[in-house]
Amino acid sequence: MLPFRLVYSSGYYLPIGEHVFPAQKYRQIHQRLLQEHIAAAEDFLEPQPASDEDILLVHTGDYVRKLKTGTLSPLEEMQLEVPYSPELVRAFWLAAGGSILAAERAMADGIAVNIGGGFHHAFPDHGEGFCVIHDVAVAIRRLQKDGKIKTAMTVDCDVHHGNGTAAIFGGHAGSPAPLPSSAGGRAKPRITTAPAGDVFTISLHQQNNYPAWKPPSSIDVNLPDGVGDVDYLHWLDNALSSAFRQFQPDLLCYIAGADPYREDQLGGLALTIEGLKQRDELVFRVGRARQIPVMVTFAGGYARNVEDTVTIHCNTVLAAKEASQRKAG
Ligand SMILES: [Zn+2]
Repeated sequence: MLPFRLVYSSGYYLPIGEHVFPAQKYRQIHQRLLQEHIAAAEDFLEPQPASDEDILLVHTGDYVRKLKTGTLSPLEEMQLEVPYSPELVRAFWLAAGGSILAAERAMADGIAVNIGGGFHHAFPDHGEGFCVIHDVAVAIRRLQKDGKIKTAMTVDCDVHHGNGTAAIFGGHAGSPAPLPSSAGGRAKPRITTAPAGDVFTISLHQQNNYPAWKPPSSIDVNLPDGVGDVDYLHWLDNALSSAFRQFQPDLLCYIAGADPYREDQLGGLALTIEGLKQRDELVFRVGRARQIPVMVTFAGGYARNVEDTVTIHCNTVLAAKEASQRKAG
């Protein structure tokens, strides 16, 4: 049995038909983790849907009402880029409940993984980019409300900028300023910083990609096209070091997108499957070293071969397992 819990429900499946978002990936990850004996059946916890009260900690009453009554405007529905249905709304309430449970379990066990979630493009008053509800933000606000944490840090390694996260937790005075950093001949990303409130947000993403408007995170690493393993790991390490010089979170929320992968259809970076696992290991190592609980969500992944996306996500669980075993040994 794993020394931490995995949160999963068959209800994570998104009823969106033929779509570039592989909604079946959650079921496939669950199966693969069991088949390869990375996890056992008793390692999984079944989440309950978040309550409306939880969702309203982040989202506006008007938006929640439109979702629940099926009254989004055609433009709002188009922005989602997934077809609206009451079942879709249920799946997102469940994903948010899963992230709440994973955050609670991370506080208890040091690590927890939601085999879903990471819908970082959802804003308080609208959804976009396949994201209806910002499950990670809901989880953070709920744990703050319950007095279980005061502060959190989001480490967003999806290839796309965490615009919803930045919009929810940002909005603090001060203009972005360049961060001094050593590059040593590498293709330099454009790094910007902004003051943080009670949640410090890091986004490491491809600059020339969706979303066009990128509201400022506490640290944004705007990577040039085609960045590979070595440079990516360097800049992630650099961003994490800078972040921890400024901020001590009670909980680290790792958004482990599979789409920085070189074979991704919606990404333009060039990480290998092995490089992505090293990325996961780096985040878990930092959490362990600083004794900060790490809660994981999976976000995007659009590899030409969906099996690669499944492998990348399963490797994140494997990296968490190896990190825990190192601690035990
Ligand atoms: Zn993405």
